Amino acid sequence: MVLEKYKQKRNFTATPEPSGDVKLAEERAKKQQTAKLFFCVQKHLASHLHYDFRLEWKGVLLSWAVPKGPSLDPKVKRLAMKVEDHPIEYGTFEGVIPSGYGAGIVMLWDQGTWTPQVDDVDAALKKGDLKFTLDGYKLKGSWVLVRTGGRYPGGGDRSWLLIKHKDEWAGEVDITEFAPNSVKSGGDFAEILAQENPDVWQSHRPAKGGDAGAMFDRIIERAIEMKTGKKSGTPPVATRAKATKATAPKTAKPTTARVATTAKSAGAKKKTAAKTRAAKP
Ligand code: MN
Repeated sequence: MVLEKYKQKRNFTATPEPSGDVKLAEERAKKQQTAKLFFCVQKHLASHLHYDFRLEWKGVLLSWAVPKGPSLDPKVKRLAMKVEDHPIEYGTFEGVIPSGYGAGIVMLWDQGTWTPQVDDVDAALKKGDLKFTLDGYKLKGSWVLVRTGGRYPGGGDRSWLLIKHKDEWAGEVDITEFAPNSVKSGGDFAEILAQENPDVWQSHRPAKGGDAGAMFDRIIERAIEMKTGKKSGTPPVATRAKATKATAPKTAKPTTARVATTAKSAGAKKKTAAKTRAAKP
């Protein structure tokens, strides 16, 4: 059944994630397009930070979890673990999953359209070699998803590689560092958490220790500061300096200009600017 695994893994009385409308999926599948299908990437801080890469196909979102996120450098192959199909409604989801499967914070990191560069997408998926173009805010141009055939330990047949093809949209800039925030709200993880209850994980944090645990510590502290308007305890000075380095431009250009620099085109600049205005009225 469509979305069966997605539904099995979740308790929809406990998660704000969409429950997945099977009829909607079936109707959308009937109107299947062959170009400019929906795609998105959700940055997901759970037990580990990862980027969920999703391509609309036959009414659902085919999904891969990419631990390090997409790279614009064609020399860099990013591991992408195939996960269960997600409902099309998931494509605009951003928010906090308090507990259960995927507990943590979900940010809509990029979205746009994708177009297959093959005639038969189903055959390409079966073969494990899908070439396509993306037209998002951050990711553009030609890409490929290739199944590794179990060459990566622990992956089995779920392990694929996401690779950028050489074109005008390729480059060495680390796009995850360069444009870290949401294309929906403009916010970072702390701002998304501050929209809800930053105290949600008083007892059971989705990750303790390690990189993800440290990220949660900083994010929860900042979210509580934003929510209450006061600092809780000693500010993490070193962390702040690091975060500033990662997100602040060298010159005092706004985020819009930075994303547009990557995007290289006036069209993308306009689109991004419009989006930013829409997100921050
Ligand atoms: Mn995820």
